[in-house]
Amino acid sequence: MKNGLYIVATPIGNIHDLSERAIETLKAAEVIACEDTRITKKLLSLLNISIQKTFITLHDHNEEEQAGKLIALISGGQAVALVSDAGSPLISDPGYKLINHCRAAGIYITVIPGCCALICALQLAGLPTDRFMFAGFIPNKDKARQDLFSELKAIPATLVFYETAPRIIKTLTAAAEIFAGRRLAVAREITKLYEECLTGTAEELIARFNAKEPKGEMVFMVAPPLKKNDSEVDVEAELRRLLADMPLKSAVKTVVETFSLNKNEVYQTALRIKNES
Ligand code: SAM
Repeated sequence: MKNGLYIVATPIGNIHDLSERAIETLKAAEVIACEDTRITKKLLSLLNISIQKTFITLHDHNEEEQAGKLIALISGGQAVALVSDAGSPLISDPGYKLINHCRAAGIYITVIPGCCALICALQLAGLPTDRFMFAGFIPNKDKARQDLFSELKAIPATLVFYETAPRIIKTLTAAAEIFAGRRLAVAREITKLYEECLTGTAEELIARFNAKEPKGEMVFMVAPPLKKNDSEVDVEAELRRLLADMPLKSAVKTVVETFSLNKNEVYQTALRIKNES
């Protein structure tokens, strides 16, 4: 295999999601740059790929230093595969500094695409995908979380975040206030046995997780803001969209509050749509 850097996506839950090209690359690479050698060696073993290779660990704090070593190996004729513990390297995972240095050094770089949790989550959620913003992990501290949500609130795009189960209720509670009335989604355990994607208001999702303890890896998404006071806005279309996964009362409330409309008129429209279906 040609010397260079091969960015290889690995599965996020189902080993069969690894592409043929990814398997061939992992077999042929003399060097593997990874986050945790135990996790990557386990993956290679499951694939019956030899682990008689050089493993170099890469994380946020040593990436600059390790980049020098990897560039020397590639310049010496070796093929390096860059992997994360799971999913696509560089996406809330190490790698961008390494790529930057490799580009500056004129090294051959290619990508072997595959699973990326944020893309899978967007595909599952049914929120608008024409424009989205990925904002990485949500901070753990209440104030930092609120500040981040407030900063992103007006962005006319679906917002996508990585989140963990123990923090999701706090995140939904902050979202109930800052993204009031917007449709939310939580995609969890994607490609695994208990994969599910929940959508609804913050209150509905909080009720769901209070009834059934949140577990597993999660992606949290927020629908774009509705255009307030926009005379062009199609109230009926908004109602249809909301009624797809909200009770009538919540959909009416959201539309009334967002567009400052007459409650009775919106209620009658919602009732008509409901009866039609
Ligand atoms: N680079 C990886 C990617 O984009 O696929 C993500 C790595 S990041 C360190 C890990 C986070 O990705 C998890 O905390 C979770 O938010 C999300 N994630 C990874 N696997 C997932 C899965 N199977 N289902 C839902 N979310 C997942």
